[in-house]
Amino acid sequence: MNIILLGPPGAGKGTQARTMCDSHGYIQLSTGDMLREAKEANSEIGKRAASIMAKGELVTDEVVIALIRDKITEKAGAVGFIFDGFPRTLAQADALEDLLLSIGQSLSHVVELFVDDEKLISRITGRFTCGSCGELYHKLTKPPKKPDVCDVCGSVNKFVFRPDDNEDSFKTRLLAYYRDTSPLIGFYHAKKILRKIDGLGSIDKIQAGINNLIKPVN
Ligand code: AMP
Repeated sequence: MNIILLGPPGAGKGTQARTMCDSHGYIQLSTGDMLREAKEANSEIGKRAASIMAKGELVTDEVVIALIRDKITEKAGAVGFIFDGFPRTLAQADALEDLLLSIGQSLSHVVELFVDDEKLISRITGRFTCGSCGELYHKLTKPPKKPDVCDVCGSVNKFVFRPDDNEDSFKTRLLAYYRDTSPLIGFYHAKKILRKIDGLGSIDKIQAGINNLIKPVN
């Protein structure tokens, strides 16, 4: 089963993708994570993407499609992929269809997580991750049990805030979402694989809702 999680920045795509991978063994393919790793590694792609990401603009289709192509080829035997933050343009959506076709697969569902714009900004500005294991936290809604200690891997003082999780960058990212990514909602609706879920509520409740939407119909 191959699933796209679609939604604006802060809708909870990454959190839900991680939970689905833990419970079902899917592989999470997040182009945002891949680009951040490239930046950390100081690779050419990472260096070029860093300033674009900091501003909240989109990295070129060519770059992200190449990243996804490599991962899909490498993990072709996976139970399924959860695409988080990809595709973000119609060109990326077309490329994804071709890439999946090349390994004899297709998209099963596209789940749109919708959240009011006003709620997104507080989600974005309060979130941080464990730099060691990638666990996601939020100052208000999901603080670690002990301050500065990761609940999952126990790392101390490893929490990191994303440089693009600020108000200016958020505005650009939201605009890019409505301008370039939201047309995908109509695109997948027409293909009859679009499912919609309210992205507000507890992580568990949303996860249960997603599982319900994607469960096979007998
Ligand atoms: P994310 O972690 O999904 O919020 O992505 C962080 C940033 O990485 C975005 O604001 C873009 O600059 C870049 N990015 C991630 N995925 C894509 C994509 N599919 N297409 C273009 N840019 C992307």
